[in-house]
Amino acid sequence: MNLQCRPDLASGYKAGSQIARVVSEEWCARELYCAACHSKRLSQSRANTPAVDFICPECEQSFQLKSLKTWSPRKIPDAAYDAMVRSIRADKTPNLLVLQYSAEWLVRNLLLIPRAFLSESVLEKRAPLSSHARRAGWVGCNILLGRIPEDGKITMVSNGSQVAVEQVRLEFSRVRRLTEVPPAMRGWTVDVLNVVRMMRKSRFSLRELYESESELRALHPANQNVRPKIRQQLQVLRDLGIIGFTSPGNYAVVSQMPGNTRWQSADLPRE
Ligand SMILES: [Zn+2]
Repeated sequence: MNLQCRPDLASGYKAGSQIARVVSEEWCARELYCAACHSKRLSQSRANTPAVDFICPECEQSFQLKSLKTWSPRKIPDAAYDAMVRSIRADKTPNLLVLQYSAEWLVRNLLLIPRAFLSESVLEKRAPLSSHARRAGWVGCNILLGRIPEDGKITMVSNGSQVAVEQVRLEFSRVRRLTEVPPAMRGWTVDVLNVVRMMRKSRFSLRELYESESELRALHPANQNVRPKIRQQLQVLRDLGIIGFTSPGNYAVVSQMPGNTRWQSADLPRE
């Protein structure tokens, strides 16, 4: 993988965002492979598929590209809030590629967020643009990275080094079955998985999980029955092969992250 982008291709553009778009799309079309199958390339999607920038010609997984010069380890600015919510509810959200490039136009970091992790819980509604803005009243959203468990933050390029293709594909395949969970429930599954991962324990009890009850209630204010929901999601995570039941009220993490501590906030470039 050649990490050098070609800014000369954007010589006809003036706006920074357009230049970034043209240059990073060309890089992806030239260098990027599919994380979901053995395809060595992705195809640029047609202009009439909003929010989808690339499609795998072999397995038809769709990808949206977000390219940035700097980003925060906490959040990534994304598109319109309402459109994103609609796409999540319709289970049409593409996988998200977040590409950070350097001042020299080298790909510095590339993060893949599998689409199953993009739930309403990870969206933060931004304030509407002011009446002076060109798009006054427009409401965007941020994707809150801290609410996505490490399983859902797959590093493809880290600090200017490419991660092995097999490793990326292994990590993607491990979480792929999450898309089998119906979209209305998947947000809960990912939130409970995040709580489990945040504990950083190989064994845990239901009582320990209940300590995050208020946090989960804040993410799902319409749901009054948080504890039954937690227990239900533990069964879902067991069926997905991520945790196991050891004795009543006690659990073991079966599927540890494969050494994936790369994507910790300390490693990330600061804004
Ligand atoms: Zn594919």
